[in-house]
Amino acid sequence: MHTQTVALTGATGYIASHVVVALAEQGYNLVGFDNLSNSSAAVVERLEQLIDGPFAFHKVDIRDTATIAEALQQHQVDAVIHLAGLKAVGESVDDPLRYYDNNVAGSLSLLTAMRDACVNQLVFSSSATVYDPDQPSPLTETSQLGPINPYGRTKYVVERLIDDVAATSDLRAINLRYFNPVGAHPSGLIGEDPVGTPNNLMPFIMQVASGQRDELSIFGNDYDTPDGTCIRDYIHVTDLANGHVAALNALATVTTSEAINLGTGTGTSVLDVLRAAEQAVDRPIPTRVVERRAGDGAVSFADPALAADRLNWQADLTVAQACVDHWRWQRQNPTGYPDLSG
Ligand code: NAD
Ligand code: UDP
Repeated sequence: MHTQTVALTGATGYIASHVVVALAEQGYNLVGFDNLSNSSAAVVERLEQLIDGPFAFHKVDIRDTATIAEALQQHQVDAVIHLAGLKAVGESVDDPLRYYDNNVAGSLSLLTAMRDACVNQLVFSSSATVYDPDQPSPLTETSQLGPINPYGRTKYVVERLIDDVAATSDLRAINLRYFNPVGAHPSGLIGEDPVGTPNNLMPFIMQVASGQRDELSIFGNDYDTPDGTCIRDYIHVTDLANGHVAALNALATVTTSEAINLGTGTGTSVLDVLRAAEQAVDRPIPTRVVERRAGDGAVSFADPALAADRLNWQADLTVAQACVDHWRWQRQNPTGYPDLSG
């Protein structure tokens, strides 16, 4: 049987690096594209260690349509997993042009390159931020959409772009709506390496645990939830990566485009995550309760039924396991990946 070749954009990023390992384990041929704007070239070496062989990597921007089209042709790519994107909500509020250019114009360029290279299978990294934050959880794919910041709106727009192209061409696509990815590969060789102060809960907690930061700010404990802190759906990045393998397999059954949630279906509060992290790191983590963060909804978790039905996939790993794995990555790489730029 023909071995499928899959191209990943954003290939050296946090989530894509785990997808590379999951796909390599299934025997896919792989090629990676990244402009290294938010990741390190050191990831390529780590991946080659993990997959025990070479990883075809191109340092390229997805807005460079001609180079991407040429590489898709050169590697005879069958399907693309599009993970490249900027993802900091606050930054997107301050600089929407940069976000629309990178995320929307970048996706437009990629879709053009795919058309030019006759590649008609796509899996796109969308996000639960496309949902209206006032919608009740569990969120299903038919819950009301309504992103409330430019980052979320770029994801919404790209989903519609993909839907429109798929409706009028032979493109077949799945828009995966990720909930909250956490954890790291159990080897401790790859993981999340945030630049500057982490925005997300888990990397922040781990940096407090390792002494790089003094305390965790808990953004509000007066929400209408059992312990007063916000509830989210934390999904282990290994489960998320396996969801991409399942989505690739399911593309054969997709005729145009579909949106599918990747979440666990379980809501976990900030205090629950904190307790799991304290268990994993075996020390208390200092905290302080501060004001609510603007834009945070009280509760957001997935209904993962469609993923079970369409992808034959479900999340298996717990938040406790994600904390253990993230802590291993943190301890082995206290300052993240080595800087290969100089
Ligand atoms: P990441 O920043 O670690 O990875 C994204 C990668 O894309 C980076 O390596 C970056 O250098 C690359 N990139 C950005 N713009 C590019 C461009 N124009 N050309 C080429 N490469 C480019 O982020 P991640 O957490 O791995 O996220 C991957 C995808 O998943 C993103 O699209 C993100 O929006 C989406 N997502 C992430 C989360 C999350 O919480 N991590 C949640 C929902 C959706
Ligand atoms: N959070 C927090 N302190 C932090 C970072 C996050 O209390 O330093 C809370 C935040 O209010 C939210 C949850 O942790 O309720 C998850 O936040 P994150 O930014 O990781 O994900 P998202 O807001 O995108 O769901």
